[in-house]
Amino acid sequence: MKVGIVGAGMVGSAAGYAMALTGAASRIVLVDRDAALAQAQAQDIAHAVPFASAAVVEAGGYDALAGAGVVVLAAGVGQKPGESRLALLERNAAVFEDVVGAVRAAAPRAILLIATNPVDVMTHVATRLSGLSPGRVIGSGTILDTARFRMLLAGHLGLAPQSVHGYVLGEHGDSEVLGWSGARVGSEPLASVAAQLGAAITADVRARIDAGVRGAAYRIIAGKGATNYGIGAGLARIVRAIGRDEQAVLSLSVVTPEAAGVRDVALSLPRVVGAGGVGTTLMPTLDAAETRALAASAALLRETAGALGL
Ligand code: ADP
Repeated sequence: MKVGIVGAGMVGSAAGYAMALTGAASRIVLVDRDAALAQAQAQDIAHAVPFASAAVVEAGGYDALAGAGVVVLAAGVGQKPGESRLALLERNAAVFEDVVGAVRAAAPRAILLIATNPVDVMTHVATRLSGLSPGRVIGSGTILDTARFRMLLAGHLGLAPQSVHGYVLGEHGDSEVLGWSGARVGSEPLASVAAQLGAAITADVRARIDAGVRGAAYRIIAGKGATNYGIGAGLARIVRAIGRDEQAVLSLSVVTPEAAGVRDVALSLPRVVGAGGVGTTLMPTLDAAETRALAASAALLRETAGALGL
């Protein structure tokens, strides 16, 4: 599958690199308003291809996106140290005014995969600007927060993160909700496995993991100015699910008719994703506190979208 990436900065280039290494795309086209940057990133990624799976990696203008099955939107301005994702909104919404129309004209059949932060509201913006059905405009949402949750939980248990199942829901940001009550290891409830391993999930452990997930982006940005490798791998994972029509279950942000009592809101829930984009949403079983937290997260996102006239 041909995949376009608009925005060849830290996130877009990491996504292209991860796609090249994992074979998620057969052709990768990088587009950026800084054409020299797009060209340099494409060449650098192309030089990894002989060590990985076959792919053509190139840079171009919007016309080079013709025939793409997915276009990743990673264009925008980066998050500054200490800046909340929501504070980025107005600047990045203005970028999308230009980008979404140009992508739609060049690649009318492409699924749009949104990575620009604040990703939930940017997904809502792109859905509205594109006129596409919501399942074809997919935000990376909490796919990365879910990975961080599984990694930290797996580290506590001494197990592989691939064997830990649980989702982070709601906003990709401060109000996100860790789905502790539904977490499983293999097919077993978390508490049962933790007891068998002698690694109880105490209030302290829970608080440490919660803070670890919620504060990860802030800590990484303080140290290196951006986050890119984790999200790049997450974007490549979503592209693979689309390209191979996997019907994989991933926590992704999509404009949703109603979630936790809030209408018309883009937020992350476990979604089934394949060649047509996101189909079914699998609403998780939550306890009362998680339900309240998800409702608050959804309300916050709805309010922010409303401030933009969405
Ligand atoms: P991040 O860390 O989110 O990837 P970067 O600043 O590294 O942030 O990358 C964002 C990229 O988006 C930059 O390379 C920038 O040139 C690009 N960009 C910004 N506005 C536009 C636009 N209107 N069209 C295309 N690319 C854009």
